[in-house]
Amino acid sequence: MNRYQLYIDGARIDPASGEWFESDDPFTGQAWALIPKGNAEDVDRAVQAAHRAFTSGPWPAMTASDRGLLLHRLGDAIARDAKRLAEIEVRDNGKLWAEMSAQLNYVPRWFHYFGGLADKIEGRVTPIDKKGYFHFTRREPLGVVAAITPWNSPLLLTAWKIAPALAAGCTVVIKPSEFTSASALEFVKLVEEVGFPPAVVNVVTGFGRDVGTPLVEHPLVRKITFTGSDATGRMINEQAARQFKHVSLELGGKSPNIVFDDANIDDAINGAVSGIFAATGQTCIAGSRLLLQRGIHDRFLERMLALASTARMGNPMLPETQVGPVTTKPQYEKILGYIDVAKKEGARLVMGGGKATRPECGTGRFVEPTIFADVDNRMRIAQEEVFGPVLSVIPFKDEEEALQIANDTRFGLGSGVWTSDIGRAIRMSERIKAGTVWVNTYRAVSYMTPFGGYKDSGIGRENGAEAIDAYLQTKSVWLNVGAVTGNPFVMR
Ligand code: NAD
Repeated sequence: MNRYQLYIDGARIDPASGEWFESDDPFTGQAWALIPKGNAEDVDRAVQAAHRAFTSGPWPAMTASDRGLLLHRLGDAIARDAKRLAEIEVRDNGKLWAEMSAQLNYVPRWFHYFGGLADKIEGRVTPIDKKGYFHFTRREPLGVVAAITPWNSPLLLTAWKIAPALAAGCTVVIKPSEFTSASALEFVKLVEEVGFPPAVVNVVTGFGRDVGTPLVEHPLVRKITFTGSDATGRMINEQAARQFKHVSLELGGKSPNIVFDDANIDDAINGAVSGIFAATGQTCIAGSRLLLQRGIHDRFLERMLALASTARMGNPMLPETQVGPVTTKPQYEKILGYIDVAKKEGARLVMGGGKATRPECGTGRFVEPTIFADVDNRMRIAQEEVFGPVLSVIPFKDEEEALQIANDTRFGLGSGVWTSDIGRAIRMSERIKAGTVWVNTYRAVSYMTPFGGYKDSGIGRENGAEAIDAYLQTKSVWLNVGAVTGNPFVMR
């Protein structure tokens, strides 16, 4: 079994606790790696080191162009090792090889894109209204950033955070999910290889209460960028507020995927199936509420069932597998619990509905792709995030009703609209309360396009050029170039 070490201040070290915990392979259920059980002492060491690296030594002395060059080199190193890193992620989170290798081949783009932005961070000269003054602004990095990530797309979501943070000139302490920590510990080897100064990037693994809380509460951490559940996000937001820390939160969703009568049905069926069963539904943008206009409802459902029932389950490393295991044991139990809740609430089960016991699933934690029809949007199955392969199908009459149902949720992360009417597409995109609206497509993301949530789905945006602003603060500089000092008791 691989036995990992923490990465603090440019060195691989054992955790202060002297303890490790097992990470298992969701397909076999067998432990395959030993992860250091970090604690507050490790967090303090990492944050102190990151603070030193932020305030003195080579990192703050580096030009922005050289910083960008390092990010480029890191992107190139990830591209070279994408296959190896993807294999580790599949082992740790059980997602499909096809999905994780595509993600890892795409991750370098974040480092190339934000590396390119590093030397385009500019202040402004203000056309100041007061005579005798020259005024300009400087954009300065915030300081030490705590990057806390979930288990579903570990390195992709790490890249979304640290690429802009490093481009801005911050230093970071990464706390990966306790379920999928190995890839971050492998990734930092590349950070070291390409020549980042020590302590610019640190990784402390462990559990939320042992590592996450002390990281959030550490006085030298100035910014917390978190992706995970809304319950944890709320707690972090409250803790961070006490010390006026900057916070970005990417949380959960209950995204509506809305199909109108005039849609291209083949495309929409693909979009609906991909929206919920890709990544075994373990994605924050899962299209977990499928809204079908009454005119096509029965026909659509029948054809979607025909397609979804062909989904091949099994070993996530095999190229033909389409639905893999559930990453964590608690998540597996949670999904099965929600299936029971939906049955009790009176939703009509039309596909799946329990554990998958097919021979190709072996000893893994598999849930059958599950579809409930005739769901009422007030049911728990339509309001709460399941984070698994469970779809709620809800009928609607017209645009107004579709909007009312779509927005009747405390979340607002993703949404899909399937229609051939461009006017309707624009109207819907204006009125849906969600951070992303996909029209005649679903689940597309890019390093160039802002991503984030409305309402309980989060605060702030990742990706796109503006994402770098979340790691910067603005300083206002006034120069007297000839103003006469007047009455000292009035504002200038
Ligand atoms: P989680 O909230 O349980 O854990 C996320 C991270 O927070 C982990 O690293 C965990 O150890 C840490 N953590 C736990 N308690 C903490 C505490 N008190 N203080 C600080 N850190 C703490 O979430 P999860 O189960 O790992 O991930 C699934 C959730 O993530 C889902 O709700 C999903 O929708 C969401 N998610 C959102 C996005 C997005 O971009 N919006 C992307 C992926 C996943």
